[in-house]
Amino acid sequence: MKFSFVAAATAALSLSTLVSADGDRIAHARQAEKMKRVPQASSSSSSTSTLATSSKPSSTSNGISSSTTSGAPAAQTTPATVITIDPLSSITAGVATGPTLPLTTTYLPGATPPIEGAPPLPTFVFNKADWPDIDRIPPTDSDEVKEWMQELEGFDIPDLEIAVNGTCAANPQLAADAANRGWWTCGGYTRPTDITFCPDKLTWGMSFDDGPTPYTPQLLKFLTDQQLKATFFVVGSRVISFPDILREEYMSGHEISVHTWSHHTLTNLTNEQVVAELGWARKAIQDVLGITPTTMRPPFGDIDDRIRAISLAMGLQPIIWTRGPMNNQFDTNDWKVPGGEVTAPQAVQSFLDILNNATIIDTGFIVLEHDLFPQEVDLSVGYFLPAALGFTPKLDLKPIGTCQGWPETNMYLETTTNATFPYPDSPAASQATTTAQARATAVANAGGKGGSSSNGAVSRGSGVLGMVIGVVAVVAGVQMF
Ligand SMILES: [Zn+2]
Repeated sequence: MKFSFVAAATAALSLSTLVSADGDRIAHARQAEKMKRVPQASSSSSSTSTLATSSKPSSTSNGISSSTTSGAPAAQTTPATVITIDPLSSITAGVATGPTLPLTTTYLPGATPPIEGAPPLPTFVFNKADWPDIDRIPPTDSDEVKEWMQELEGFDIPDLEIAVNGTCAANPQLAADAANRGWWTCGGYTRPTDITFCPDKLTWGMSFDDGPTPYTPQLLKFLTDQQLKATFFVVGSRVISFPDILREEYMSGHEISVHTWSHHTLTNLTNEQVVAELGWARKAIQDVLGITPTTMRPPFGDIDDRIRAISLAMGLQPIIWTRGPMNNQFDTNDWKVPGGEVTAPQAVQSFLDILNNATIIDTGFIVLEHDLFPQEVDLSVGYFLPAALGFTPKLDLKPIGTCQGWPETNMYLETTTNATFPYPDSPAASQATTTAQARATAVANAGGKGGSSSNGAVSRGSGVLGMVIGVVAVVAGVQMF
């Protein structure tokens, strides 16, 4: 199956005046909502420039073919395409113009994942009636959400006042109490259970947020060519829209983590809504891949002790990104380029500043990057990643779980060997009364039927029959942000 979409912005991008970093984030989301991608049949393979990549010429440069790699049966292997990239000066706001790459491989149900002990890829058939509306906070009166709410039983979920929205400016009292609330948004407060850096100096725990999208394959090809692995924080609404692309991420050995269903700020949602956001994203990943992530990233980094507790109770350890010596975020600002708030050269400078800051902190680091918009992918494969690969002193690029020293199996509930979730010797570990295995049992009991597709936490190797569908929820007007 060949993907070939042309993205277009169908709405004018009128930028509001932005006065704070937090305001920027919210404005970003709102503005991005205005950008609609309209998939169109196209055979275009033209481009504008060459990419400074040392990609291998082999048509099987990703090392995956129909007869190799974990015995994964590949239905179709498409010859690799040369990655092209816009010159920096032409990576601008607004309409996306670049071509997309086809996936190199389409994986069939039953394929063996590269994670030891992981179940075979399940069959996934998209049925719109089975899912909440895309890019909307899911309703909380569904049987699924009621089921997932039971996972909070036995855990101390702080009764914190719910924020007005995810910004500090709109919540002055809560912002003033941010340290007590562990509110990352307003001051960068963290808890020991948060992952915010890699332990080893000059090690970059590399991640990409908000996909999968038709632009992701270009990034995947670059990573494969460079023999790099990363962590993908995926949005449930995107997962059911582009399941084949999620499969390629996972089957290529990248880490998959939860980034909510609709990409809404979480501190202004009710407990039930937070459970719905995490639960539906978790279920989307589980239904498509057969595994349940043990980690999550809150959209916009918007987490406090209430959101943390809910996430941990649901078996999801929070991962944010690093703040530097001046509390400055390791944020490339790539997400501000599509809307015109930041230019491509400014984003590149942000990234170079991050690398320089990385040399003066004692630990490794985690950077915020995205694969939602083509500008973001162009920046990563054309500029950020080549700069990191050529950086002096040499950097070690790894997925975030790997940089923590976790075995890759610990990234998923079905394969983890970690008996002290979220990790040994942490306060949360001593508070958590259930092991990963006990958690699975408890969830299974709460949800009833193991293998049921109605519970994203326990259904595995779904017995649902059907055909693999490449792109299922792609309809004109799907909003992506
Ligand atoms: Zn995000």
